[in-house]
Amino acid sequence: MKTLNLFIFIDALGWKIAKERQFLADVLPYRSPCNTIFGYSSTCDPTILTGELPEKHGHFSFYAPAGKERPFKGWGALRFLPTFISEHRRVRNRLSHYIAKKRGYTGYFQLYSMPFKYLPYFDYTEKKDIYMPGGIIGGQKTIFESWQASGRPWFRSDWRQSDEVNLRALGEVAVKGEVELAYLFTAGLDALMHRYGTQGPEVDQGFAHFEAQLRATIFQARKHYKDVRVHAFSDHGMANTQRSSNLRLRFEKLGYRFGRDYIACWDSTMARFWFPGGPAVKAQIEAYLRYQLDGRIVSAAELKSWGCSFPNNRYGELFYLLPAGSIFVPSFMNKQWVNGMHGYDPAHPDSAASWLTSHPTRVPKSLVDIFPIMQGACQGDTGVPWDRADEAAEVLSEAGHEAALF
Ligand SMILES: [Zn+2]
Repeated sequence: MKTLNLFIFIDALGWKIAKERQFLADVLPYRSPCNTIFGYSSTCDPTILTGELPEKHGHFSFYAPAGKERPFKGWGALRFLPTFISEHRRVRNRLSHYIAKKRGYTGYFQLYSMPFKYLPYFDYTEKKDIYMPGGIIGGQKTIFESWQASGRPWFRSDWRQSDEVNLRALGEVAVKGEVELAYLFTAGLDALMHRYGTQGPEVDQGFAHFEAQLRATIFQARKHYKDVRVHAFSDHGMANTQRSSNLRLRFEKLGYRFGRDYIACWDSTMARFWFPGGPAVKAQIEAYLRYQLDGRIVSAAELKSWGCSFPNNRYGELFYLLPAGSIFVPSFMNKQWVNGMHGYDPAHPDSAASWLTSHPTRVPKSLVDIFPIMQGACQGDTGVPWDRADEAAEVLSEAGHEAALF
């Protein structure tokens, strides 16, 4: 019988949430926070897959200003559609699907609430499937290429499918006892917590259901392997939203012209600006933003320390960030209020990701450290003593762990 190294990606399972809920504490007694990086899943996930910081792998946000190639040129005409059609979620989903197909995008493509009148000014950055070879903008190989090169049989779930489908697929593979490395992708908790926040009966129920499914899958797999080494981890946490900012509406009344003076992308928690109008416009807009109490301008030094100094200011010449618990309403991501959000200062306690394992491993200090652990797994790395020097890392009852194994 073989050993299975199972890596379970759980979108938005923050350290605070995992700790408070004692998420799968019986199965995963080795637990530690893991620093996230600035941005959303669109930049955290490529970091997990490559072990590189955003400025190296080149992924940050889905939208950046269009260069010579203007993929959405002409699509601005859709702004003449009646609002009840153009802003309907299902219409936008269908249209996103159509555009992705027409343009040959294999990555995750979503229009979100991007106003059609602004669409022609943007390019979409995640054109390719980041889980497939050649999908990373910076050209780095992902962990799956390392696994492939190792010659060990491996499995990866399909990020386009639901958690149910992916868990079933993993279960079907595990009973054969062949695969030695597996990566389970799950994003159900992220969707659940965006909708309801981190607490409440619906969330309790969702967590209980998900934990039960994971426990059953791991239990089944253990019958077909000598050992199943489980590593559950996330890309970032989730904050309950308490305040909304209408800065976009206020800013757009100032009279600056989009495309001529400035370009802005209003993500859920940050606004990113570029200044085709030149340094004078930049100085005026920067001065205006400094006096707004909604959030703060992110300094160049901070961006650098977060690994987000992008060449040619690809993802913004100026970043304006909201404090944890605030969201822009409206933004280009959400038209309406949502109860949970992430994408704040990475140092905020609600931002921290988690690392939960069934056995001692190196403790990843940040998302970039997960890649070497996944790589070690295909090189026969059997783990190293848990770094107890890390104060935040903890080991829960080993007795409980043993009980969970059988
Ligand atoms: Zn999310």
